[in-house]
Amino acid sequence: MATHITTTNPYNNTSLETYTYYSSEAIDNILNSANNTFKTWKKASLSKKTELLKHVADNLSKNKEKYSKLMTLEMGKPITESIAEIEKCMYLCDFYAENAAILLSDEIIETDAKESFISYDPLGCILGIMPWNFPFWQAFRFAIPTLTAGNTVVMKHASNVTGCALAIQQVFEDAGYPKGCFSTLIANHNTVETIIENDIIKAVSLTGSEKAGREIAKIAGAQLKPTLLELGGNNACVILNDANLDAHLSTIVKARMQNTGQSCIAAKRFIVEAGIYNEFLNKFTEAVATLNFGDPLLEDTKIGTLAREDLADTLEEQIKASVTKGAKVHYGNTRNKAYYQPTILTNVTQDMPVFTEETFGPVAAIIKVSNKEEAYKLVSNTKFGLGTMIFTEAVEDARQQIINIEDGAFFINDMVKSDPRLPFGGTKNSGYGRELSREGILAFTNKKTVYVK
Ligand code: NDP
Repeated sequence: MATHITTTNPYNNTSLETYTYYSSEAIDNILNSANNTFKTWKKASLSKKTELLKHVADNLSKNKEKYSKLMTLEMGKPITESIAEIEKCMYLCDFYAENAAILLSDEIIETDAKESFISYDPLGCILGIMPWNFPFWQAFRFAIPTLTAGNTVVMKHASNVTGCALAIQQVFEDAGYPKGCFSTLIANHNTVETIIENDIIKAVSLTGSEKAGREIAKIAGAQLKPTLLELGGNNACVILNDANLDAHLSTIVKARMQNTGQSCIAAKRFIVEAGIYNEFLNKFTEAVATLNFGDPLLEDTKIGTLAREDLADTLEEQIKASVTKGAKVHYGNTRNKAYYQPTILTNVTQDMPVFTEETFGPVAAIIKVSNKEEAYKLVSNTKFGLGTMIFTEAVEDARQQIINIEDGAFFINDMVKSDPRLPFGGTKNSGYGRELSREGILAFTNKKTVYVK
C-alpha cells in the first residue's frame, strides 16, 4: 500500500506537494480527540456555534485568493470558479448562522402527554468522504450543518486535493472551533473500512462515484451505521420548441461546461424537440466555441484541464464507444493529456455510453426528439436521479411533469444547482439522503421523542 500522496497540477503536470498518510495510531488519536470533544461540543450553546460560523465566513473572506489558488492548482478549476466556490461557502455559513436556531428547535407535537416533542440531538463523530470536483464546497456543505447540529467531524478528502483538505482543517482551527471538532484524515482509502468500523464513527457521508458509494454503504451497513450518499448523475436538459434560447442559452451552456464539465448535477443529456433543434445546435455550438482553454490561474480562462489524466482517459473511451455506435462528433473532441476540448455529439441514442453513463467532462450528448412526450420518456430512462431541467415558455404545462420526474430536483427554466436554502440529493443510483436546508442540518441527528406525562 502506498505510503505517500503527491499532488499534481493537472494543467502542467508538475508536482505540488508530497504528504505522508497518517499512521493507524495517528488516526486513532484523531478519532479519540473527536469523541472527547463531542462530549462538550454537543452541549455548547447554539449561539456559540453560530458565532463560530461567522468566524469561518470571515476567515474564508480574508483568505479567498489563497484558497482559490490552491483549488485551481490542485484540480485545474478556472480561478474565477474557485473564487465563486469560496463565496458560496461563505453564504452557506451565513445561512446556517442565521437559521440554525429555528431549524434545530424542538418540534412540539400535541398528544395526551403534558408535553411531547421531538428533540434533534447530535449523533457523535461523523465521517465525511469527499471528492475533488468542488474541494471546498462539497466539504463545507457536509461539515457546516453537521457541526452546527452538535456533531464532530472527521474528513477523508480525495487524495488529489490533500492541500485543500489541510487548509479546510486550518479554517476551522483559526475560526476558534475546539480541537477535535473538525479534523482531516490523510488516509489511504483502503484504511477507510477500519475507520468506519471504529465505534467512535456514528455515520458516514460520501460524495463521489457510484462505485465508491456501493463500497461505503456495504461497509457501513455491516456496522448498522447510517450513510448519506451523494453520487453521480446523468441529468437531462430538455429544450422544448417554445424555449426562449436568447434568455437561457448562457445558462444552458454553463449547465454543461461549468467546472469543465466535472459536476454531478451538470446537464449531460440534451433532449431537444425537433422544431428548435437546428437553432439550438447552432447557437449552442457557437457559444461553446467561445469558451477558451488556458492557464486556469488566468481570469479569462473558461475551460481548464480535467482534474486528472485518467479522467480524460475515461471520457475518451466513453466518446469512442459512442461514436462506434453511431454518434457524430459535431464539435471538438481533441485531447492532450488531462485537457479535453469541449465536445458536442449528435445522433446520440439510448444505447450509447454518453447516454447511459455519467460523463464527467465537457461533453454534451444531443438527442433529437419529435415531441415533448418522447422527451419526457427519455428523461427518466436513466439509472441516475439527481435532477432534470427543462426550458419552455409553457411553465404551467411543465409543472404537470413534477409528479413524473423521478429525480431529487426539477428545475424549470434554470440549471439544476445547489442552494443552502433548498434540499439537495438524489434518487436511484445517485444515492439517498439530503444535504443543505433543514434536511441537511437534521441529517445526522437523533430525532428523539420526548414525552412528559
Ligand atoms: P471516487 O468516488 O473514487 O472518489 C471520491 C472520494 O471517495 C475520494 O475521497 C476517494 O478517495 C473516496 N473513495 C473512493 N473509493 C473509496 C473506497 N472504496 N473507500 C473509501 N473511500 C473511497 O471518484 P473518482 O475520483 O475516481 O472519480 C471517478 C468518477 O466518480 C467521476 O468520473 C464521476 O463520475 C464520479 N464522481 C462524482 C462526484 C460527484 O460529485 N457526485 C465527485 C467525484 C467523482 P481517494 O481519492 O483516496 O481515492
